[in-house]
Amino acid sequence: MQYFLAIIGGGPAGYTAAAKASQAGKQVVLFEQNALGGTCLNVGCIPTKTLLYSAKQYWNATHADKYGVKAEQVSFDYAKMVQRKQKVVRKLVAGIRMKLNNDCCTVVNGAASVVSRTDEKVVIECNGEQYTADNLMICTGSVNFMPPIAGIQDNPNVWDSTDALAATTLPESIVIVGGGVIGMEFATLYHELGVPVTVIEAMPHILPNLDQEIVQLLRDKYEKEGIRILTDTKVTEIAGNRVITDNGEVETDKILVCVGRRPNMQGLEQLTDLKCERGIVVDDFMRTNLPNVYACGDVTGKLMLAHVASRQAEVAVGRMLKQIPLQRIDYKAIPSVVYTNPEIACVGITDEQEDYEVRKLPMSFSGRFVAENEGENGLCKMVIDRKKQIVLGVHLIGNPCSEFIAAASFAVRMGYTMPEFQQVVFPHPTVSEILKEMTE
Ligand code: NAD
Repeated sequence: MQYFLAIIGGGPAGYTAAAKASQAGKQVVLFEQNALGGTCLNVGCIPTKTLLYSAKQYWNATHADKYGVKAEQVSFDYAKMVQRKQKVVRKLVAGIRMKLNNDCCTVVNGAASVVSRTDEKVVIECNGEQYTADNLMICTGSVNFMPPIAGIQDNPNVWDSTDALAATTLPESIVIVGGGVIGMEFATLYHELGVPVTVIEAMPHILPNLDQEIVQLLRDKYEKEGIRILTDTKVTEIAGNRVITDNGEVETDKILVCVGRRPNMQGLEQLTDLKCERGIVVDDFMRTNLPNVYACGDVTGKLMLAHVASRQAEVAVGRMLKQIPLQRIDYKAIPSVVYTNPEIACVGITDEQEDYEVRKLPMSFSGRFVAENEGENGLCKMVIDRKKQIVLGVHLIGNPCSEFIAAASFAVRMGYTMPEFQQVVFPHPTVSEILKEMTE
């Protein structure tokens, strides 16, 4: 049989594409060498958020006094937290398997590689068998990047994020190299469970791609609570359990390296004409330079976010099926969240140039925030086109901003003006009302 679509990689991009194309009645074959769900579900978003939730329960219990609750001799069982994380992952992986369980979708468990490609067909090999398809979608994701620092390779004290998630005991202390999203989320996890944490970041700021006024609030809080954050600091060598920097050295139990991820090009060696830069080059329909080859998700080197990957997959399949109206990928309103405590969430531009008006309000303008965040600060910033009064960006710090950033994304996506946004009714009392307050 010649399939309509062969997909390599069963993460958010791959399984979304497989579900969408097969539900439209097209024969699809999906190759996945590990578990369905990819990095996000197995060793990324979901396991980290599950552990972070356990850590937050412990943290809240040990800080309950300010809410008039006395919780004495609170303790935790990390192995049990890890077990629960595995249970959550298993449940969600099974959910994806169910989603792909239809007559048009074949899932093959194994490492696939491209054998040959013409404009008419692509041949793929997996587990010693060959499969042919009209179209190929590459959704191979990304892999942890280990920088070429002396003493890092084969060092049992050095972890990447996958090692950290697999560990069933906590380190006695940890140095986190890289103050990006992964670094700050793990810093939160370990800190809330009482592990001494040092973050080493090469740039002048942690979370360098986010609004720095917002990030500074997080940094101030974390430093006050005892997390050591060294910015503008480069690791020059790792000697056993000593991290040597251009600014001194730190001794630690474990060293977690999270300095970014790189597109995974495994199995694509035969596609010698495939155009790549930071990842596989794609247009707004996720087409590569090779007719009938599409690429979606982290492998494109665009925004490495699960929700971007799944949207890219929807766009690509829509294009393949020639669905009318054809939709292009639009990156202007992609929300992003950092699951620190407090959470940070943002969408749209951070620019504060003269053309833009920037409005700010402390989160304490929301009654619900005050009720539930004793002694906490929070901030909402909105970037607005000065002349047209269009909402261009929203940046938030304060719990639970991850849960309502979608409302701001909607406004940015639809190009709402402030008077239009002002007409939206937000439920009271919710922290989301802070967005409404901004329009008044
Ligand atoms: P990142 O790019 O977000 O951060 C890496 C950090 O490491 C940067 O701040 C960089 O300046 C720093 N760095 C680089 N080399 C260094 C060195 N030698 N010494 C010290 N610091 C160094 O990458 P990440 O945190 O590894 O995350 C990888 C990808 O996964 C990102 O695209 C991220 O958006 C995504 N992700 C997203 C979420 C989320 O949305 N909540 C969670 C986890 C990961």
